[in-house]
Amino acid sequence: MTAKSTPMMEQYHALKREAGDCLLFYRMGDFFELFFDDARVAAGVLDIALTTRGEHGGEAVPMCGVPVHSAEGYLARLIRAGCRVAIAEQVETPAEAKKRGGSKALVKRDIVRFVTAGTLTEEALLEPRRANVLAAVCEVRGVIGAASVDVSTGRMALEECPPDRLGAALARLGPSEVVVPEDWDDAPGDAIPRPRGDFASDGGETQLKAVHGVATLDGFGAFTRPMLAAAGGLLAYLDHAGRGKLPLLLPPVAHTGEAALAMDEATRASLEIVEAQQGGRAGSLIAAVDRCATGAGARQLAEDLSAPLTDAGAIEARLALVGWLHADPLLRADLREVLRALPDIGRALGRIVAERGSPRDLGQVRDGLAEARRVQDHLKGKPDRPALLDALLPALGGHGALVDLLQRALVPAPPTERQNGGFIAEGYDAGLDELRQTSGNARRAIAALEARYRGDTGISALKIKHNGVLGYFIEVPAKHADALMAADSGFTHRQTMAGAVRFNSLGLHEEAARIAEAGGHALAAEEAHFEELTGAVAVAREAIAETAAALARLDVSAGNAERAAEGDWARPEIVEDRCLEIAGGRHPVVEAALAKAGERFVANDCTLAPADRLWLIGGPNMGGKSTFLRQNALIVLLAQAGCFVPAASARIGLVDRLFSRVGASDNLARGRSTFMVEMVETAAILSQATERSFVILDEVGRGTSTYDGLALAWAVVEAVHETNRCRCLFATHYHELSRLAETCDALSLHHVRAREWKGDLVLLHELAEGPADRSYGLAVARLAGVPEQVVARAKSVLDKLEKGRAETGGLAAGLGDLPLFAAASVVREEPIDTVRERLRELDVDALSPRDALDALYRLKQDAGSTES
Ligand code: ADP
Repeated sequence: MTAKSTPMMEQYHALKREAGDCLLFYRMGDFFELFFDDARVAAGVLDIALTTRGEHGGEAVPMCGVPVHSAEGYLARLIRAGCRVAIAEQVETPAEAKKRGGSKALVKRDIVRFVTAGTLTEEALLEPRRANVLAAVCEVRGVIGAASVDVSTGRMALEECPPDRLGAALARLGPSEVVVPEDWDDAPGDAIPRPRGDFASDGGETQLKAVHGVATLDGFGAFTRPMLAAAGGLLAYLDHAGRGKLPLLLPPVAHTGEAALAMDEATRASLEIVEAQQGGRAGSLIAAVDRCATGAGARQLAEDLSAPLTDAGAIEARLALVGWLHADPLLRADLREVLRALPDIGRALGRIVAERGSPRDLGQVRDGLAEARRVQDHLKGKPDRPALLDALLPALGGHGALVDLLQRALVPAPPTERQNGGFIAEGYDAGLDELRQTSGNARRAIAALEARYRGDTGISALKIKHNGVLGYFIEVPAKHADALMAADSGFTHRQTMAGAVRFNSLGLHEEAARIAEAGGHALAAEEAHFEELTGAVAVAREAIAETAAALARLDVSAGNAERAAEGDWARPEIVEDRCLEIAGGRHPVVEAALAKAGERFVANDCTLAPADRLWLIGGPNMGGKSTFLRQNALIVLLAQAGCFVPAASARIGLVDRLFSRVGASDNLARGRSTFMVEMVETAAILSQATERSFVILDEVGRGTSTYDGLALAWAVVEAVHETNRCRCLFATHYHELSRLAETCDALSLHHVRAREWKGDLVLLHELAEGPADRSYGLAVARLAGVPEQVVARAKSVLDKLEKGRAETGGLAAGLGDLPLFAAASVVREEPIDTVRERLRELDVDALSPRDALDALYRLKQDAGSTES
């Protein structure tokens, strides 16, 4: 590039205009080059050298590049950093360019594809255990339409919802890319604007029909105008990104709102279902539950947990299959072993249909389908099969002819590259075998030539070699070269190297030509077979996708059964009454974390019913309130997703909506005023929770001053109790709220137990009935390492405050005549539960029978001398 506009720079700028705000990968030989700002961005993200090339407008043009053969890795990093990339390839060879426009002609380049987070199919760019969703949303006459697809597997869904549920819908879908009409003011942030005309319902309908070759969409489901408009936007974007090539698209499924347990964005974030709040899978619910043997299973589990069911029959069907596999550990182990070896056929199919498939992908489809058939044979003979299994079994077979074709056609382990051939098996195509034989014969002839020339010339160091530039040639050490240089030697000189000289001969030339010709024909034949095999797979796409889905469901069920067996989880009972009876409930994530540290999780019960549906839970900080709240929400979620639950037993009245809110100060990372966020979220609960909902509220009101906070918490509890009438666990440190038990008849008081022993706080993490006696704030501060003199000072301030409270009636004095928490101001030091302590310290394995008896006597003695 020089100061004057060169043809190449003009071509670059034209392509860059087309690429818009995507980074332009401009192919030059073996590199993709980036220029100007693109180069700056890419060099920063990829941490590669930024150089310059020529100049533009008097300034050096910044440039960086990545080698074509390793471009995938760089692409992955750019996509992860939120970039989108347009790939401009050379669409003719330099020779073709010369032929077309003379020696100075510039090679034609074109954008062949846009690589964006939502349109990936490459194995290297995808996470095996996470779906990769692209969503298109738009608004049609006050209703939101949303279309979503996992391009890697072709699964597509259409849905609609009111505008205020858009956030919840997107949170459930978890898309990596969202496209919206360009002129939509209320579009979600980060969405990519696309032409308004793309989002037309009639256009969407026409395209869907064309993609699936049907005259009407009725066979797939009932689709509304907003759904079809969103589908139009989605298909147009896919068409744009693939430059006219659509990826695998399975028939769309219509999702109606009521089929799934409703959870909004805040609830999902606070329950850390598929992602922990710090980001990433570690520490999330799914990380604690997932025992799937395959990536496809893990993706299905994520979908199950993101959209638990509300239909008791469907939940029972899943539970029955998990239960069946739970009851038979041997069968489960066998099945999981087979599944573990399964290739990801859903994604291989996605690549094949998107025309990015490799011979290896064909091999994966072959092996996966063959294995599915074996799984079918294995399971169909088993007695007492649950209904869901019987529904899945047919989908595991039915590919006999295709498997047979692929088995005959392909070598056992086909390569990922197809340029070099070698993937079609011997015996599949007689013509190809002959070509291979010809080139094999020629290769042998060349070996024979080498031996003959050695004999003829007497040069034992003579070799016949091959390289990309010269093709086949004869090489001798320089000191022997003279003999071959003679005019009548039969050899012609080609190249002199430092220590060797290279020659050609007529015989070698002929054999080399035979190899080249046969090789070229063989490659062309393999290429033709590749087209034909991918075509055969593409025709069966829907049936193959069904097999993949059935295998994934089996894997999820077996994984859930495995998890249940491992953690002693129970099969929940799903009922219609509005109860929640969980005995010995545990928090799967906290329990796992404690287990790693060698500590034990204290299981707790929760029993809500219409007459006792709101539990107010007090107790010290760090006492286990949040954990208790969340574990119950997670148990409901797991149960309705069709999983066993971490509890001794669980009887769960179907929940229609699940809400989880955490007091503002836990959420400092958010942008808006935290108290404002807390109130917005609380308002959503008050307006949306029904009698069938389950709500957990953790320290609501603590984002503001004590008076405001208490007043709001008070009013919220009353409203939840009187108006929403949902099941609710409410954790609070406002003792004053206990007074509500006097007026709210379905509300009861509970607390997490703690003891103070000689100034040290002992948190028992045990839930008990009744109000919390005190807050133990100072003890928690000491536990946290606040210096002793500060704690002492705080203690004297507290004494003063409590004296004041005793005199004035305290914070809630105006709310009634009763003096509040009179007992709370008396600092009692109770003995710690020594029996429990002793028990904990006992090393039972190390005791002799005699010692054991002594220990028992001592324990009995202690038990007699202390209150529990
Ligand atoms: P709170 O909400 O009362 O401040 P948390 O629920 O955040 O308390 O619990 C604080 C810590 O106590 C947790 O991180 C966990 O390590 C421990 N913990 C909570 N519940 C239990 C339990 N049931 N058994 C054992 N440890 C627990």
